[in-house]
Amino acid sequence: MVKSSILGYPRIGAQREWKKALEAYWAGKLEEAAFHEQLREIRLSHLRKQKEQGIDLIPVGDFSYYDQVLDTATMFGIMPQRFTYDGGTVPLSVYYGIARGTKEATASEMTKWFNTNYHYIVPELDGAAPTLTENKPLIAYKEAKEALGIEGKPVIIGPLTLLKLSKGYKEEELDHYLDQLLPLYNQILQELSDEGVEWVQLDEPILVTKLSSLDIQRLQKIYSTFAAAAPKLQIMLQTYFESVENYEDIIQLPVHGIGLDLVHGYSGNVKSLEKHGFPQDKVLGAGIIDGRGIWKASLRDKLEQLKVINKWVSEDRIILQSSCSLLHVPVSLASETALASELKGALAFADEKLNELVLLTKGINQGSEAIQAELTDCDLALNALEQSPDRKRNDIRQQVAAISSANPERSQPFSKRHLLQQDKWNLPLLPTTTIGSFPQSAEVRKARRLWRKGEWSDSKYEGFIEEQIDTWIHLQEEIGLDVLVHGEFERTDMVEFFGEKLGGFAFTQNGWVQSYGSRCVKPPVIFGDIRFEEPMTVKETKYAQSKTSRPVKGMLTGPITIMNWSFVRDDISREQIAYQLAYALRQEVEALELAGIGMIQVDEPAVREGLPLKEEEQAEYLAWSVKAFRLTTSTVKDSTQIHTHMCYCEFHDMIDSIEDMDADVISIETSRSHGELIHSFEDNTYKLGIGLGVYDIHSPRVPKVEEMSSMIDRALRVLDPKLFWINPDCGLKTRGTEETVQSLKHMVEATKAARDKY
Ligand code: GLN
Ligand code: ZN
Repeated sequence: MVKSSILGYPRIGAQREWKKALEAYWAGKLEEAAFHEQLREIRLSHLRKQKEQGIDLIPVGDFSYYDQVLDTATMFGIMPQRFTYDGGTVPLSVYYGIARGTKEATASEMTKWFNTNYHYIVPELDGAAPTLTENKPLIAYKEAKEALGIEGKPVIIGPLTLLKLSKGYKEEELDHYLDQLLPLYNQILQELSDEGVEWVQLDEPILVTKLSSLDIQRLQKIYSTFAAAAPKLQIMLQTYFESVENYEDIIQLPVHGIGLDLVHGYSGNVKSLEKHGFPQDKVLGAGIIDGRGIWKASLRDKLEQLKVINKWVSEDRIILQSSCSLLHVPVSLASETALASELKGALAFADEKLNELVLLTKGINQGSEAIQAELTDCDLALNALEQSPDRKRNDIRQQVAAISSANPERSQPFSKRHLLQQDKWNLPLLPTTTIGSFPQSAEVRKARRLWRKGEWSDSKYEGFIEEQIDTWIHLQEEIGLDVLVHGEFERTDMVEFFGEKLGGFAFTQNGWVQSYGSRCVKPPVIFGDIRFEEPMTVKETKYAQSKTSRPVKGMLTGPITIMNWSFVRDDISREQIAYQLAYALRQEVEALELAGIGMIQVDEPAVREGLPLKEEEQAEYLAWSVKAFRLTTSTVKDSTQIHTHMCYCEFHDMIDSIEDMDADVISIETSRSHGELIHSFEDNTYKLGIGLGVYDIHSPRVPKVEEMSSMIDRALRVLDPKLFWINPDCGLKTRGTEETVQSLKHMVEATKAARDKY
């Protein structure tokens, strides 16, 4: 008999109860005991839901008070020494201190969880001496059993993944930490085994990345140690997000089951199955339902895929699973009342995915006749979306095919454009500018709320936005900036704003997913071909330009960022979606130019977020991403200056691609790795306009003039002053007005001093 399972369930709650509880606790509005009680309720309700739906192997211990990596690190006593901890269960003050920082100690770094938009807290080893602070999986297992009679499957992050994602050690010290961790893992597993646990899921997503032969040896050591420590316990060695590298070594590890992603790693994993088969003594965790996409699965296709898998693994050795934890999808479609029915019918969030798994399990165990009605419903629903007129627009497809068949290029190279642009603008050496947004005060947010609720008319709201623009144009002139912006007061979010104005997008009411900690995002859904309908930013930009004689930079979000921060359709390639977005945004660029805006910034902060995990696929992704940017920006006159902005990531290995984007000016965030970034420009003779952020906007602190001067000096040791711009390192939306004005004044002062020097 086939069994069903998932790898984890979203923790935020159907109405984001979890987020609200965390924030109430942090704000001191919820006592610790009540907080624990609320979280227990939420946790149990998630388990109950899975039980009621009929999931056979329900994960326990996947729930978290913040982040699963932080849970694992604190469970093993891996905590930065700047937080005082005196043994025993880690207090919430320490746990949240590490995650969020305290007055005395800075938070640990957070970073992206593989290629998702989830961010985990990076464990800091730094000489830590791991100890077991508590057996969290055991506690979770007992709780589920006692409260709900559930025979849960404890979930634990495996040692290799945990160590590889940690920092604060040298490569050659890894084995030292591993040796310290193994007995602690052994203890956890033995206690689970003694308690009667049948299956435990050890997450090792690191196995989908390239491993050295040393790492393979480490895996052999880890899993044979576990097998010896808890021989009766069945370990599911779980991978996800891609196909496993080193498949033939991994299937030989002494574990009872191997979990493979058969959605995002389908072709690679099937190739491995074809080549090396699957061991007869192991169970396959078949990750067949997409754990991170929001689309309904074609049950019929899935049954077919399973037949393919049956060539290597018989049904009695298969557990049907989600491809990864459902953490990455919204909770439920139940509260979506406003989506078009053909769209809603084709979606599946976490709860709907539970049902898909149960149906597939039934379809296999009892034969597809047993789910005939559901198969038909599923076909009808998917077909309804396919037939919807928004889904496929031949006019758009033809135009996109036409413009993307050639390599988009500006008519002259940068060296010539640069001269034309210099002539036109006559900017001083080291021109100053900002990244786009200015503080979104409580007043701005309130105005938007009132307008959205219908309490303010369109014209009242527009008048209010214009007043904000007036104020800030005036302030920017007073501060002495050279290139101004309108301030983005009309935008809540840089993706949502454009999504709402373009065709082919839909918005859920409650489709939240956890991004990090209590922060959730509600990505738009790209379900159809993308259409430019009417100018989206021209009115405000033109208005701002009418108020000043200095140049005002238009401000757009780029195609790759819009795509990477949305849920995208999966019936056409991401490359095609990117080109459709590029085509729509190009029309906006052209509209701005036509309205007399001669500098246009197309932000691409999220390019790196879409980078494939497989190294061999990265170059191709970067190539079409660059092409999408060029499609967006290459039809303007040579004297029109294209800017772009990037942040949140490592750039040093991307500089060639950045250069290929051929933007006249790029501004890059440097707050976290200024020195390093500058270093990477030393041998990369970057030849276009560039501004390396001279101050960190992520802190309310007003930096001193001297600090910025030294940033400028350092940058100008490697970069040409004639191409260098001075700007903060990101948008100022989250900052207060006063500190922003002060900081920008200091920035202009530092610039003036630098102009005398260079
Ligand atoms: N133009 C945007 C802003 O200033 C850029 C935001 C970003 O880089 N994330 O807010
Ligand atoms: Zn930024």
